[in-house]
Amino acid sequence: MSSALPSYEQAAAIVAAHAAKWNRTTPSIERVELRHAAGRVLAHSVHADRDQPPFSRSTRDGYACRSAEASRHAFLSVEGSTHAGEAPAGPLSHGVAWEIMTGAPVPTGADSVMMIEHVEVVDRQVRLLPPRTVGAGENIVARGAQAQKGDELLPAGTMLAPAHIALAASCGYASIDVCARPRVAILTTGDELVPAEAEPGPGQIRNSNAPMLAALIAAAGGDPWVLPAAADTAASLDAALGKAAKADLLLISGGVSAGKFDLVEPALARLGARFHFTGVRIQSGKPLVFGELPRDGASRSSTPDVSRVLPFFGLPGNPISTAVTFQLFAAPVLAALAGRHESGPRFALAYLARDTDKHGKQGLTRFLPARCDFNPPHGRPPQVALVPWHGSGDLPAFARSNCFLVVPEDVSRLEAGAIVRILLP
Ligand code: AMP
Ligand code: MG
Repeated sequence: MSSALPSYEQAAAIVAAHAAKWNRTTPSIERVELRHAAGRVLAHSVHADRDQPPFSRSTRDGYACRSAEASRHAFLSVEGSTHAGEAPAGPLSHGVAWEIMTGAPVPTGADSVMMIEHVEVVDRQVRLLPPRTVGAGENIVARGAQAQKGDELLPAGTMLAPAHIALAASCGYASIDVCARPRVAILTTGDELVPAEAEPGPGQIRNSNAPMLAALIAAAGGDPWVLPAAADTAASLDAALGKAAKADLLLISGGVSAGKFDLVEPALARLGARFHFTGVRIQSGKPLVFGELPRDGASRSSTPDVSRVLPFFGLPGNPISTAVTFQLFAAPVLAALAGRHESGPRFALAYLARDTDKHGKQGLTRFLPARCDFNPPHGRPPQVALVPWHGSGDLPAFARSNCFLVVPEDVSRLEAGAIVRILLP
């Protein structure tokens, strides 16, 4: 049965191909103040408005000089001084030096800076202490060495991190155009669910997926839109799906396994869904469903761009499965809809600190909650170990994890000391 399902890699490739198609060509744009732009996606590329640095800049406190003269160790008379914020001096006469502070423009004519720690100063005369020499360009960043006026420094589609914000500020952006956040509808399903604030009756549990998905969506650059939870009836699902039509992406949790009350797929099919896959060879999250719904007025055969179709995922309801499948598959689609040029999950390598169990399921790529020590003593590489758990509904175990250990499909057990792949949050 399961060999008919795509592998993790195959399913990821299917998702990536659709995501690339849906990457909005004309996203709606908002202007935000730069201090509110962290985590937003750049709508237009950022260009250098002038050379960077805009003048040849000293990287040290010391004395600007001609390197050939300074390296002869004769005393040079100190003709003047420039500190950060002053205009460049010069041209520097021959046989002289110029006092300079870090960040200040180097006088024209000087080609290097002697560090204050490396000189002897006597009566406004300075010399480089032998046997030290200084080379041309030393302790100077030349004008335009980092970027030239007009260079593209950040491409459209960059998700803005602090370094990008600093760069945009250096180019004169006080506010910046970003893509509108895609609206992601969250539809949780299950007769057993009550909201977090309610007192559960016998057999009921609190709906933890709705707030978890909202947090995941917000962190991935989306605008979460929590719909009222649906009951496990065709009528309830039909009504709930009808409400989701205005979303840019629809995430349904629960109801996609093979049980008697797993009614999500038939409900989607009634709305004319195209399914790209209805299961993946992974643990946790094998029953994952991915597809697209036609939007009102669009015919099923039309070119599938996001104005014509509503992409959806049916995420298995167990909270760890929901989180894994979101991260592996829904997040890349969300990233594309958000206008990001980069998407895809982030993996890293770590050393396995303890053997995994002997009874792992083969034939499925496993993503298992694990805890990685990213800062082990003595500069050792990251060390990861599985978090003991009671299956993919174990929220306390999940909360103790900080990554997922990836066990390849053909591996039943990994041994301590192995270099393993982890999926980062
Ligand atoms: P399902 O995918 O609907 O078969 O659900 C699998 C398991 O996840 C069941 O134990 C459900 O009770 C649980 N579950 C489903 N939806 C949620 C939710 N929104 N919050 C917490 N647990 C859920
Ligand atoms: Mg259910």
